[in-house]
Amino acid sequence: MYKPASLFISLLFGTCFFATAQKANKIHFRSILIDTHNDIPSTAIDDKISFDQDLLHKTHSDLRRMKEGGVDAQFFSIWCDGNKQNPYAWANREIDTVLAWTHRNPDRMMQAFTAADIERAARNKKLAVLLGVEGGHMIENDLGKLEALYQRGVRYMTITWNNSTAWASSALDETTRADSLTHAGLSAFGKQVIQKMNALGMLVDLSHVGEATFRDAIATSSKPVLVSHSCVYALCAHRRNLKDDQIRAVAKNGGVIQLNFYSGFLDPSFESRSDAFTTRHKAEMDSLLKVNPEPYFMQVYLFNKYPEEVKGLRPPLSLLIDHLDYIVKLVGADYVGLGSDFDGVNSLPEGLDGVQDFPKITAELVKRGYSKKDIEKILGGNLLRVLRANEKP
Ligand SMILES: [Zn+2]
Repeated sequence: MYKPASLFISLLFGTCFFATAQKANKIHFRSILIDTHNDIPSTAIDDKISFDQDLLHKTHSDLRRMKEGGVDAQFFSIWCDGNKQNPYAWANREIDTVLAWTHRNPDRMMQAFTAADIERAARNKKLAVLLGVEGGHMIENDLGKLEALYQRGVRYMTITWNNSTAWASSALDETTRADSLTHAGLSAFGKQVIQKMNALGMLVDLSHVGEATFRDAIATSSKPVLVSHSCVYALCAHRRNLKDDQIRAVAKNGGVIQLNFYSGFLDPSFESRSDAFTTRHKAEMDSLLKVNPEPYFMQVYLFNKYPEEVKGLRPPLSLLIDHLDYIVKLVGADYVGLGSDFDGVNSLPEGLDGVQDFPKITAELVKRGYSKKDIEKILGGNLLRVLRANEKP
């Protein structure tokens, strides 16, 4: 039956939807988009694959999809766990890998050392390649090694990963084995590390650290700090997320909090639902844990094996934007950005299947009424400000 009124409404709705999508795309691809955390180096080395291959359906990231997603600058995570022998040598091996990708694609990638380099890369339509070391254990208690990493281009260091060092306590250790820690927070040497990073122009990254280390580091740092891949504790009470007083402290310090896309840091019900999933596959879980006691690897294996069951665990994309809204309402739009953790996590919100899906985030921000100016800050402007503030005069 012909219904003129509803046809008119649906045409109007369709036009509005199309106009909003177009506006969002325009803002997205004209802004500088900087993601501060991607674990493709470790994934590529483990799986013997390369970032400049087509890795669709294998990984969250590859060079072609970075372009499709409008990513202008990527901090590649240089990481190994706390049990690795010779972690400094390993860090250098990961850096070699990222730089090999960069050097063999000179028309599509360039290494960036400064905020100005990122802007130059964006103008030349190349991916700006930056390095972030995830875990203070990789400097092996040696300020000379810290400086050598800076010379290779490392522009942030996460003070701890899940493992504490002799000089800084992690969120995991502060919350699960506080009694056995030799100290909580930064030691005297830990404070020297922060001061050395400030002097070099390397960003102090406070993702993964415990609250005591967070407090000591922010009090010691003379420069704005980074939180490269964490979310909001008030919305998801996970030790990797920031409490309100920490969010306020970052804003007061002039730093920036880059939101992690991991379902488990966004959705408070994710952990119990994913536990129920692994328990359903208990026999496999137990034998996998015998091979590698780190639960993450067991989960990755099971998540890949049962994709249909895993789909149901994903939270909606709107939940990521709720975390962003929370920070904006608490301290304003100058202190938040994006630190995806792509290729370092095994579950992401619906619709975020990889780096090609960044435009969906901008579309959500436009839908929620964010101004072009604020979206530009969130996508990369805030991070550029913090980088500049850390660069040597
Ligand atoms: Zn991490």
